Amino acid sequence: GLTGNRRWTPQWGDPEPQAEYDAIIIGGGGHGLSTAYYLAKNHGMTNIAVLEKGYLGGGNVGRNTTVVRGNYFLPGNSEFYSHSLKLWEGLSQELNYNVMFSQRGVITLFHSDAQRDAAARRGNAMINQGDDAELLDRNALRKLLPYLNYDNGRFPIHGGLLHRRGGTARHDAVAWGYARGADQRGVDLIQQCEVTGIDIENGQVRGVQTTRGAIRAKKVAIVTAGRSGQVAAMAGIRLPIESHVLQAFVTEGLKPVIDHVVSFGMGHFYISQSDKGGLVFGGDLDFYASYAQRGNMPMMEHVMEAGMTLMPMIGKSRVLRSWGGIMDMTPDGSPIIDKTDTEGLFIDCGWCYGGFKAVPASGFALAHLMATGQHHETAAGFRLDRFRSGEGLMDEEATGSQHN
Ligand code: FAD
Repeated sequence: GLTGNRRWTPQWGDPEPQAEYDAIIIGGGGHGLSTAYYLAKNHGMTNIAVLEKGYLGGGNVGRNTTVVRGNYFLPGNSEFYSHSLKLWEGLSQELNYNVMFSQRGVITLFHSDAQRDAAARRGNAMINQGDDAELLDRNALRKLLPYLNYDNGRFPIHGGLLHRRGGTARHDAVAWGYARGADQRGVDLIQQCEVTGIDIENGQVRGVQTTRGAIRAKKVAIVTAGRSGQVAAMAGIRLPIESHVLQAFVTEGLKPVIDHVVSFGMGHFYISQSDKGGLVFGGDLDFYASYAQRGNMPMMEHVMEAGMTLMPMIGKSRVLRSWGGIMDMTPDGSPIIDKTDTEGLFIDCGWCYGGFKAVPASGFALAHLMATGQHHETAAGFRLDRFRSGEGLMDEEATGSQHN
């Protein structure tokens, strides 16, 4: 900005779509861009295109509250998020792009003896997985977070589970870093190109129809987050997914005051402070199916009430903006990274309200699946047919107590 933008050059190209690619990725969000990057980097597949109906990073990857953590409990999810956290730790170096990953620690509060036991169990599982966890009693927590209202009548705070390696990152930078890395390796990033149909012949995918013409490919991946149900329907697939709106809020910039991510599951509220100083916080889904990228007033009121219960001091700050994103909710709260019954057609979706932290490992795993035909070991449980067989991956971290 100080140079008046002189000598700034575009970070990726603006190519015309070719008639044919080896692989097409539908969706230029975090997961689509990281998939393209790892296909090129890890598997040498560079004749590929990412097709984005709007602009890169205009979806949820640029709308989330940026919490990154590896505190999942059950096998199936825990090894995947643990892998993702390790990728996060090297991401700025990997992409040569500062994604501002800040391991400021995520603290999940508990409010009863039973919840403390559950937190201890989760912490042990995290440590067994090779990650970090510390159980803090009320006094230890008070030293870190003196501003909380510890004696609020309904949910008195008994302590918290601290996950020091968790934190936040700059969401746009993640999209831009993967985009630039993919572009540098020869991937075509094509914006303003909406996929309107998926061509299938004799059970094999042949390509896609788009607003910029037909494009052929023997491998196509649907990586469209909140729009997954609609895009999968173009291939005749009915996904076990409902799309719901999730809102978030940011206040005016303040001096540093909250130096962790604090998660108040019982109030459906979580908060952190951005590097710019804004308090960034959110709550639960609006709880009606919607494709609108905006929410409604009752949830705003609920989130503000929860925030005031937890830390009354935030009542003095002024909310600057609120927004919403479309969440691809699965019945068990866990995602899908799989082949489909159509040969060459892959799907990566169902990230619910927690898919930002998954961006590195999801792209890594989907690229592995597309290139080798084999599931990556960290994502082997994310099968589509688990909804047919009833073998859901219900992890509390994914389903209920956290919304970040
Ligand atoms: P997106 O960025 O939405 O990418 C999908 C892309 O597909 C979009 O750009 C869209 O335009 C494109 N597309 C759709 N249809 C088509 C089509 N027909 N043709 C071409 N392109 C198409 N997760 C966390 O881990 N931590 C958090 O703190 C967190 N907080 C959140 C807070 C909010 C308010 C929201 C909304 C989400 C939050 N999430 C969080 C969830 C996370 O943002 C998502 O799970 C994740 O970003 C989804 O993957 P994506 O980045 O690929 O999605």
